[in-house]
Amino acid sequence: MSAATAPAAASDATPALRCRGLVKHYGDVKAVDGIDFEVPRGTCFGMLGPNGAGKTTTMEMIEGLTPPTAGRIELFGHSWGEGHDRELRRRLGVQLQETRLPEKLTVTELLRLFRSFYPGGRSVEEAIRVVQLEEKRDARLEKLSGGQKQRLSLATALVGDPELLFLDEPTTGLDPQARLSIWEIVEDFRAHGGTVLLTTHYMDEAAHLCDRLVILDHGKVIAAGTPAELVASLGADQIVELAIAGDGDGEPSVDRFGGLAGVRSVTLRDGRLVLSVTAIAQALPALLQLLEREKLALASLTTHQATLEDVFVGLTGRGLRET
Ligand code: ATP
Repeated sequence: MSAATAPAAASDATPALRCRGLVKHYGDVKAVDGIDFEVPRGTCFGMLGPNGAGKTTTMEMIEGLTPPTAGRIELFGHSWGEGHDRELRRRLGVQLQETRLPEKLTVTELLRLFRSFYPGGRSVEEAIRVVQLEEKRDARLEKLSGGQKQRLSLATALVGDPELLFLDEPTTGLDPQARLSIWEIVEDFRAHGGTVLLTTHYMDEAAHLCDRLVILDHGKVIAAGTPAELVASLGADQIVELAIAGDGDGEPSVDRFGGLAGVRSVTLRDGRLVLSVTAIAQALPALLQLLEREKLALASLTTHQATLEDVFVGLTGRGLRET
């Protein structure tokens, strides 16, 4: 959002977005099953969840693309269909999950087209600069890489100079460098006072970009907070995963490991033991002693800092990428 076009009411305390009791049914499918959250202006809010959790459906209801079965959505204090739709459209920028753009157009031509949809906004050149596509301004879309196409799709959402930007899985399928470049654009938008609503199933993306987030599963919010609060809710700093050699015939016994010093809880996942650990310096020696005592050989052992993925696994017993 450029300073020149920032609205007079930008300091208004009304949240950019408020959802209350949001429900969407498709026949018997409860795609969204009673969701509440609020997004203060100038923040990045994330919806994290596995495939089919209801992220896109929630996003589409908020964008006014599909009506809710029940519940209320307020954008800058206004709801769709109550006389403010034109104003709302002007204030929103939408990047859809899959954007099919006309391959024969050039970058400049496409952005000129999108710019014509808005009464105000950024210049086409500025939008090209923001997403760092200056060298490709005359290239046809068919010649762009996946990452460049995604940056261009972001530019189509930014060219109207929105206050609230919707990003539906903006980096799915991109290589690490292309992801970083999308993150920088999003951070820059937010640093200039913009508000972002983001869906992702990459926990590192949510941890990096989001001030607050909800974790969705089966259409419901199963956890909410800042990334740090959510990770802290696990009550563990480290996760130790191990597989016991030769234990393939039977499941390794969780009980044997639960009482170890420094270990908060133990779960079994895909034949591996997953230990939530509060004191790694105590837990690792105790674990190795136990293995020695019981004459168990390790097939593998890894440790990592607890992440949002571990929060999700802890809550549901499944990984974010499992459907
Ligand atoms: P993904 O990460 O795969 O995009 P998601 O969290 O965005 O998943 P949704 O696309 O919102 O999930 O889907 C939620 C549920 O609603 C799924 O069970 C899906 O099959 C169902 N669903 C979504 N759109 C429709 C539709 N138009 N008709 C029927 N069912 C639908």
